[in-house]
Amino acid sequence: MEVLLENIVIYGSVGIIFFTILFLYLRKQKKDSDVVEAKIKKAKEMGLHEPVSLHPVVDINSCIKSGACITACPEKDILGIKDGKATTINASRCVGHGACFHACPVGAISLKIGTETRGVELPHVSPVFESNVPGIYIAGEMGGMGLIKNAVEQGKQAVLNIAKNIKSNNKGNLDLVIVGAGPAGISASLMAKKNKLKFVTLEQDTLGGTVYSFPRAKIVMTAPMELPLYGKIKLVETSKDELISIWKGVLDANDIVIQENTKVESVGKNGELFEVITKDKQYLAKAVLLAIGRRGSPRKLGVEGEQLPKVYYRLLDPEHINGKDVLVVGGGDSAVESAMILADNGNNVTLSYRREKFNRIKPGNLDRITEAEKSGEVKIILNSNVLKIEKDKVLMKIENDDSFTLANDLVYVFAGGELPREFLTKAGIKITKKFGEIVMSHK
Ligand SMILES: Cc1cc2nc3c(=O)[nH]c(=O)nc-3n(C[C@H](O)[C@H](O)[C@H](O)COP(=O)(O)OP(=O)(O)OC[C@H]3O[C@@H](n4cnc5c(N)ncnc54)[C@H](O)[C@@H]3O)c2cc1C
Repeated sequence: MEVLLENIVIYGSVGIIFFTILFLYLRKQKKDSDVVEAKIKKAKEMGLHEPVSLHPVVDINSCIKSGACITACPEKDILGIKDGKATTINASRCVGHGACFHACPVGAISLKIGTETRGVELPHVSPVFESNVPGIYIAGEMGGMGLIKNAVEQGKQAVLNIAKNIKSNNKGNLDLVIVGAGPAGISASLMAKKNKLKFVTLEQDTLGGTVYSFPRAKIVMTAPMELPLYGKIKLVETSKDELISIWKGVLDANDIVIQENTKVESVGKNGELFEVITKDKQYLAKAVLLAIGRRGSPRKLGVEGEQLPKVYYRLLDPEHINGKDVLVVGGGDSAVESAMILADNGNNVTLSYRREKFNRIKPGNLDRITEAEKSGEVKIILNSNVLKIEKDKVLMKIENDDSFTLANDLVYVFAGGELPREFLTKAGIKITKKFGEIVMSHK
């Protein structure tokens, strides 16, 4: 009897402990799921949940909740666990290095580009950054992923693959021509040097690419990145001058000369080699890396008066602009940042955006522009479009409302860049519009 009682007490206690642990575990899981759910709701409100750029998607039927994807991702809150399965939260913050894809032990993660409703025109690029034309590689924003860190990473990876695929004899023809010297082209050039390739880098404009065209006062937001022949750049908030000085320093230290003011007019085949043609010269090489970004031709508004000399598509020296009536058009980070810089310089700034709210801008920029509007520094007109630009005014319209005019000295348009279609198709590269297409999958 005593033994029976003792057993009841023991088994009873074990049962109580087991159910208490289970209860606490389930309660914690529910609490964590609620936190993730709230974050997803906020990400959706801010337009950060489903970007057109490369991002992960989780197959919830295969996910085993190992959490490996979350641990592997160096960014924050891109993935979380909800109701016992991994899910995306702020997928717009994905920088596309695919760490989650490789970390998942059951291959439940795929990488997708575009969404079902918003397509994005992209050249064909394989996971090793090769286009549909064997030997022509594509890295950086041209391939669909924005941001400096991504461009640096992709430039590096692309050249690593090129170095594996070609036999460099370091004499005769070039191994590689790198087109473009933005972050992708710079990092590619360093990697080419590191791998002892015989190469040239041709840049139509100036070293630095889009970063060179940033306003001097702009805060450049980035993430720590590994630059070949330099090591880790541990910057989070920096300036264009600081970044360009690091890039120039490491290029000089390794005797790499970027050929600036050299526009590549076409890339074609010449027997086994590629023929890269500029205004004055022809280069023959075993491989070509296109690191040309997407901003070669800024997207235009297509309205009357847009050809006036007061209309600009980039803001280079805002310190020389003050006391003007300025209209900034666009709703991305470039438009928002430029509006704030121009306002700081004592201009009367109006920001016009065609949508009803700012989607897909960095949270820091959203806070700053909201503050600037509250304090009256920047006037924001949402749901608005420019109808006509004149010498001293612009004609605008708010959706479902009458048109109106604004006094105006300068217009800055930041409506993104258009793909250099002709250049790419002449080189044989296929371009397609991707609507939520899986580009990397384990299946
Ligand atoms: C206003 C603005 C603000 C931004 N702020 C940030 C930020 O804070 N943080 C961040 O991470 N990202 C930011 N970005 C995005 C970032 O600048 C880009 O994602 C990055 O520069 C892409 O690098 P890339 O090397 O692929 O292309 P790019 O930097 O665009 O460089 C491409 C280069 O190729 C050259 N080129 C093009 N065609 C040819 C040709 N036919 N022959 C020779 N050369 C050619 C171009 O002149 C250019 O120099 C911002 C972008 C803009 C517009």
